[in-house]
Amino acid sequence: MAAAENHHMTDSDERQMLDAISKWIEKKVAPVAMQLEHDDVWPADLVEDMKEMGLFGALIDPEFGGLGLTATTYSKIVTMIAEEWMSLTGIFNSHLMMAQIVQRFGTQRQKEYWLPRFATGEIRGGLGLTEPDAGTDLQAIRTTARRAGDKYVVNGAKTWISNAIQGHASALLVKTDPGAEPRYSGMSMLIVTKMNPETGEALPGIRNGQKLEKLGYKGIDSGEFVFEDYECDAELSLVGGVEGQGFFMATGGLEIGRINIAARSVGIARRALRESVAYAQTRKTMGKPICEHQAIQLKLGDMAARTRAAELLVEDAARAYDTGARIDMEAGMAKYFASETAVEVATEAMRIHGGYGYSKEYVIERLYRDAPLMCIGEGTNEMQRIIIAKQLVKRNPV
Ligand SMILES: Cc1cc2nc3c(=O)[nH]c(=O)nc-3n(C[C@H](O)[C@H](O)[C@H](O)COP(=O)(O)OP(=O)(O)OC[C@H]3O[C@@H](n4cnc5c(N)ncnc54)[C@H](O)[C@@H]3O)c2cc1C
Repeated sequence: MAAAENHHMTDSDERQMLDAISKWIEKKVAPVAMQLEHDDVWPADLVEDMKEMGLFGALIDPEFGGLGLTATTYSKIVTMIAEEWMSLTGIFNSHLMMAQIVQRFGTQRQKEYWLPRFATGEIRGGLGLTEPDAGTDLQAIRTTARRAGDKYVVNGAKTWISNAIQGHASALLVKTDPGAEPRYSGMSMLIVTKMNPETGEALPGIRNGQKLEKLGYKGIDSGEFVFEDYECDAELSLVGGVEGQGFFMATGGLEIGRINIAARSVGIARRALRESVAYAQTRKTMGKPICEHQAIQLKLGDMAARTRAAELLVEDAARAYDTGARIDMEAGMAKYFASETAVEVATEAMRIHGGYGYSKEYVIERLYRDAPLMCIGEGTNEMQRIIIAKQLVKRNPV
């Protein structure tokens, strides 16, 4: 696994990078995040900055033009950015999950072809798994890819795909053998693009359906893909060059996605806590700051302890990922606990802020709207607990 080989960044390199990102957040993101979020505008300028900083290649090996960061460094970056505006992290993380699938499972030719283009952000995209009738039950997908000579012909529809509209590509989970039993054995992963990657010319048979309106996670596009006899080159598109591996690629790719969601959740929780600690010292009732009322102290105590526990679970999962092991359980625990923490801490922050917490002038209402998605994306929290339990039994047979 590539991540295990990428320990080339020294502590001082890491500090420098985190410092640079922190300055960028303060100077460029903080002043515009609120407005872009409320207007649900895709942040074109910030995406250009993220390209320049190399974030679209954060987890791609340096030999293919990426930064080759460890999951540990990467998750720190994600948390920092999510503390200011969580949506931004989805723009590069979903893209990196597509890239990770090529990096971990692609043929040498596919890596050489796709990864340098992904690393610069010249071609951006995400992960196309979910369909109108299949989310958690991924094996129920109906999008098909039929082999026709040296091409695949794709038909079907995907929904809820992050970066579907502003992006150019997708790692697309399809059925290459719709009748196969077990169902996963008929599933494959394709890299599909809306345009010819070399000429930029739009390709027929692939289009976006509607842009989906959401409670939070604004600024980033969530959209549909519709495929009608869409054709792609089999050698470049079929990840790994063999059919039947798509389900494992999708679930393997989700490990880093889960660490990312956990890291984003920590960002949301940290921000909600920080705002609450500050607000509780300035807001006075009954003649004293509310931080001196025991009811508020109990909330702050809970929020701080949970946030710190979530941080440690993310660090633990990222460290395990960096050893190269399969880490479903660690990533599942981090994702589950950190996302529930984000929801709880954002809710408590709203209560501490009283009426102001409900106001669009404060960041709290945004954190409150953004947090619940963390419990749904990259495998719902119901599924995370089932995964944790299965791993517990597997690792501790009697
Ligand atoms: C803003 C947003 C962005 C997204 N981005 C992407 C993306 O980029 N790419 C992508 O492919 N998808 C994306 N998704 C889709 C997301 O991954 C799915 O919504 C999620 O996997 C749940 O699937 P579902 O919505 O079909 O719910 P369902 O699978 O229908 O689940 C409904 C409920 O049943 C529970 N449930 C289901 N099966 C079981 C079971 N076996 N045991 C116990 N409980 C169960 C679930 O936990 C949930 O509570 C996104 C979704 C949102 C909202």
